[in-house]
Amino acid sequence: MSRETLIDLIYLFSATTFVLALKGLGSPRHARRGNALAAFGMLVAVVATFFKFVDGHALRHVGLILLAMFIGTVVAVPVARFVKMTAMPQLVAIFNGVGGGAASLVSITEFIHIKSTHPATYVVLEVLLGVLIGTVSFAGSAIAFAKLQELMTGRPVTYPGQQIINALVGAVALGLIVTILVSGSTALLWTLFGVAFILGVAFVLPIGGADVPVLISLLNAFTGLAVAASGFTLGSNLLIVAGILVGASGILLTRLMSKAMGRSLSNVLFSAFGSNVTASAGGGVEGRTVRSGTPEDVGVLLSYASKVVIIPGYGLAVAQGQHVLRELAEVLESRGIKVFYAIHPVAGRMPGHMNVLLAEANVPYEDLIEMDEANSELQTADVALVVGANDTVNPAAGEPGSPIYGMPIIHADLAENVVFMKRSMRPGFAGIDNELLYNPKTILVFGDAKDTLTKLVAVVKAS
Ligand code: NDP
Repeated sequence: MSRETLIDLIYLFSATTFVLALKGLGSPRHARRGNALAAFGMLVAVVATFFKFVDGHALRHVGLILLAMFIGTVVAVPVARFVKMTAMPQLVAIFNGVGGGAASLVSITEFIHIKSTHPATYVVLEVLLGVLIGTVSFAGSAIAFAKLQELMTGRPVTYPGQQIINALVGAVALGLIVTILVSGSTALLWTLFGVAFILGVAFVLPIGGADVPVLISLLNAFTGLAVAASGFTLGSNLLIVAGILVGASGILLTRLMSKAMGRSLSNVLFSAFGSNVTASAGGGVEGRTVRSGTPEDVGVLLSYASKVVIIPGYGLAVAQGQHVLRELAEVLESRGIKVFYAIHPVAGRMPGHMNVLLAEANVPYEDLIEMDEANSELQTADVALVVGANDTVNPAAGEPGSPIYGMPIIHADLAENVVFMKRSMRPGFAGIDNELLYNPKTILVFGDAKDTLTKLVAVVKAS
């Protein structure tokens, strides 16, 4: 067997591990193994590449490549290990951005490399698309990172005529691609790089901080496509497979997230959602009363309960209350009370946020139920315990005209009693009031969720 065939077989093995890894990522139980499998497949592919002959020559600049890999490892490992769960979206943003940037640089190098060989038009087109998409992904991800890391305002940045200007920048980029195809000009290639950079920044500026995870998923898909384009250029089947897997799964995830938020993708990308926070955003509607209570009041409620549905949200992640929440659930279960965790698909600020948060606290997967099942359990539940969630239980989603109209919600209001743990009357990400807070069957326990849960555990244990 020739060396080339052997390396192709190794790449086929790696591509298979990527597909199996995606299957593993479909369930929290196998996600970790899936991730490890993909990492192993990638490692094997990288090692195999060192033994590949390119244009009849052994790989050159091995020392520089190893140095770059070493620097990347030294930076990435500690960052990934010590990142806080609430900072995960920006980590994904920056890692995705460098992927797009790398794909763009590969395409630029390849353009310069193949120019003198008079390549077919479609080959140059692949290269130019790689530059455009990779650079948009790089610049967009950098702005997404800055928004999430609060290095700049998280609110949508808007100005008059914004969408027309963005469309014009996009048209200029496409015009440049056509001109380069005709002229083969390297100078214009750099202009394309600059215009793509501006396009990436301009595209992301009007998107509000909390919509950024959907955007990151889309940019992730872009990076996948840019990598696939590099794969075509370099004649690497592995890059094509890996890029298309990332592209396709990124697009699917983007669609699923938009659907779970009850909004179209164009609404997420172009409506500057979050720029107009409603009048009540400062803290509830004046003149209306709510029933506030103490952990002791909630302890009494729980002592009479036989079924409790916990509905976690973004505030649980902020408070880092997942461990004490699990402790509460265990104490209740030890008293014969049925406890479920109801998981809304977009609770938190990234897909699977609650699953990962609760898994970190070793909450058994069997105790997690999805929205539809949760809504049927809630009909017979004694208490719905809403911990740091708001929009995902807001009945306003059923009212035409509401910014979250059409978003499927967890119907906490079906339970006999509803307990909210939050710090104030401030709304959630969507910036709209929650009628359920004023419902007579609702008790609000104000304070940091972790503090409240800690007190509640003590009360329940003592009763
Ligand atoms: P929300 O943003 O609606 O509400 C979070 C609540 O947590 C707030 O009411 C806040 O109230 C409370 N809170 C914050 N910090 C604390 C704390 N330390 N202790 C106690 N409470 C706290 O979150 P949900 O999870 O219900 O909904 C997620 C929202 O994010 C949805 O609108 C969704 O569309 C959006 N989104 C989700 C994405 C995803 O992939 N998951 C992606 C993009 C958007 P207070 O300040 O009074 O404490």
